[in-house]
Amino acid sequence: MGALIADVVILTNIPKVLSYSIPEGVSPKVGCRVAAPVRKATKIGVVIDIHEGTQINQALKDLICVLDERPFITSELIELITWTSRYYHAGIGPSMALAFPPYLREGRTITIDKDPVLFRTNRIHTKTGPHQKAILDSIPDTGIRLSVLKCRIPGMAGKMKGLLNRGLIELKEEPSSYVSSCSPTPGYTPDQQMAVQEINKAIKAGRFHTYLLHGITGSGKTEVYLASALEVLRHGKSVLYMVPEIALTPQTIDMVKSRIPVEVAVFHSGLSPKDRAKEFMKVAQGGVNFILGTRSAIFSPLKELGLIIVDEEHDHSYKQDDGIPYNARDLSILRARNNQAVVILGSATPSMETYQRSRLSHSSLITMPNRIGPAALPTIEIVDMRGVEGPLSERLIMEMNHTVSRGEQVLLFINRRGFSAAMVCPGCGKVLKCKRCDRSLTYHKAKSLGLCHWCGFTMKLPEICPLCGCLDMKPIGMGTEQVIASVEKTCADKRLLRMDSDEITSATKLTTALDAIRAGNVDIIVGTQMIGKGHDFPNLTLVGVIYTEQLLHMPDFRSLERTFQQIVQVAGRAGRRKADTKVIIQTLIPDHPLIHSISRYDYLSMIEMEQEIRKATGFPPFSHMARCVITSAKDKTAREFCAQIASVVKIQGVEVLGPAPAPISLLRNRNRWHIILRSKNRGSLHKALDIIEQVRCPQEADLKIDVDPYSMM
Ligand code: ADP
Ligand code: ZN
Repeated sequence: MGALIADVVILTNIPKVLSYSIPEGVSPKVGCRVAAPVRKATKIGVVIDIHEGTQINQALKDLICVLDERPFITSELIELITWTSRYYHAGIGPSMALAFPPYLREGRTITIDKDPVLFRTNRIHTKTGPHQKAILDSIPDTGIRLSVLKCRIPGMAGKMKGLLNRGLIELKEEPSSYVSSCSPTPGYTPDQQMAVQEINKAIKAGRFHTYLLHGITGSGKTEVYLASALEVLRHGKSVLYMVPEIALTPQTIDMVKSRIPVEVAVFHSGLSPKDRAKEFMKVAQGGVNFILGTRSAIFSPLKELGLIIVDEEHDHSYKQDDGIPYNARDLSILRARNNQAVVILGSATPSMETYQRSRLSHSSLITMPNRIGPAALPTIEIVDMRGVEGPLSERLIMEMNHTVSRGEQVLLFINRRGFSAAMVCPGCGKVLKCKRCDRSLTYHKAKSLGLCHWCGFTMKLPEICPLCGCLDMKPIGMGTEQVIASVEKTCADKRLLRMDSDEITSATKLTTALDAIRAGNVDIIVGTQMIGKGHDFPNLTLVGVIYTEQLLHMPDFRSLERTFQQIVQVAGRAGRRKADTKVIIQTLIPDHPLIHSISRYDYLSMIEMEQEIRKATGFPPFSHMARCVITSAKDKTAREFCAQIASVVKIQGVEVLGPAPAPISLLRNRNRWHIILRSKNRGSLHKALDIIEQVRCPQEADLKIDVDPYSMM
């Protein structure tokens, strides 16, 4: 009988599992971190298996030591990570690293603070300042978790000290199962009741089931998520609640914490490395069984998973574009299946893939076609912009004036920041481009600069065309700046707020802006998709969509679907409380069937149309797809290697498109070529990718495989 062997995944770029012998006195468990020798260095890894050694294992090195007493991750999560690594053709090391916050990857440990509960004392308080009073007023008799109060009153930690010193409040340590008082559940609408009942069936049965909750904006999907979550907690299981990156605001966190009676861990990339590690530890140690998080939370170490909620499931932020291009929405279904858990995919505008899946009855479709309360969906009006100068039509300006004079708010949505999409010479047609990316520079008028939105390169714009000497370079396309300039001219007396990534550069700025809108300190908001989804502004009654089809021109087979999703989501921001609200859609293609679908909120007609197109062209969901992108400083190297891999994948049933230069053929000084693989059979597609992986990549080139790609650029 051989000695015991530990199979270890090193938490770095090492793509393979390494085996070590376990020396006496060291007793690792599966899921624990260990220190192990790799060549001459000591690295941190995770034990994924322990087994008896054979003859072949004799020359193995010894593990150095075990870092954790109790395992961080369970074999269920190890299985998910192993699957991810295989499916996305990524190394097991980088895949495992997805599950660990950077702080812990480095082998450090951290002690977690308790989340004490704050109570008012009986002491009579005289003379408290307004901040202190606000704190006192926010503490219910049953107490409140410090983390919840911090979320509600930013910056309260400093002001709390005085109250503590004066004995007006006290902090008590409570076990993590402490149930704080929660805001009550509203009476459900018939739609909600039906949805909750349906989902409860699967929860009670403790069986894997996927639901698509297709509910229009404002139909009250959140209540359905919360009701299902509470039911799962009652069954003693845990809940993962995922939202798109942009939607994880302090308001969302507060809302969830105020409704969920157990401790909620929050997972998102905005946390400091230490805080991320702390949230992770709380969950890994089993003290917390509710996580609210963004994409990467799919790899969180929750135990006894009973429910995964994917809010706005169509959102592209569930797909990671750099590193390992995994899709957290797709993984949620897999993880739920492995756990016999329930998945709720919610959206007003479900993705084509998800909708198709529900049709083929891999999941149940629940629809909520009605808005909560008296407010109907805003009426949509189409304005033909052919022949109109500037970004705002007369019709829109008139409605803006009416709306603001009634004391209500306007949102103008535009797809792009900056002033215009590009600067073009009317004489010779030259477009100013980034030298490193070969993409047109976006004109930023305020700074009088051309800015590359891909790499950040900036350049002072020439007054004359560098090619033909023409004096009159012209902006084409449209961005936030140009809309602002136009609003300033036509509605000079109104209070304007700009919300794009040039203006809103931090979470604090976002909160300040959202607060200003809610407090009514703003009349007109000009914003990009930053403002397009998730938010609820009671006093917003007019939405103007400027240059509706800008996104449609992208070389992407999803561009029609995406345009529909984006516009309907933005329209949904209007009139969530008031009746009589309006959306004005300005477009150069008023007769396009897509515009007809949008004007009637007709998701099904869009899906039917899109389905026909995808069927005819063989794009997903009618095929499985992968993309290989080759980049190199030398164009020849990239082109030749691309041609080489295209020539080796002669597999029956796998169609190879390319080799071709990628739509962005130069990015940050790297030349880019790609091929696209399509197949009706997933297995064949993966076989093709396995073959490609075997081809030796030249040193000066880089190959990236993207399975189920979202970006075609
Ligand atoms: P969705 O996510 O479907 O767009 P929300 O969940 O944000 O919609 O709900 C829209 C609004 O309706 C929210 O302000 C929410 O508080 C409110 N709401 C939801 N359900 C009810 C209900 N049963 N009774 C009263 N108000 C509700
Ligand atoms: Zn660039």
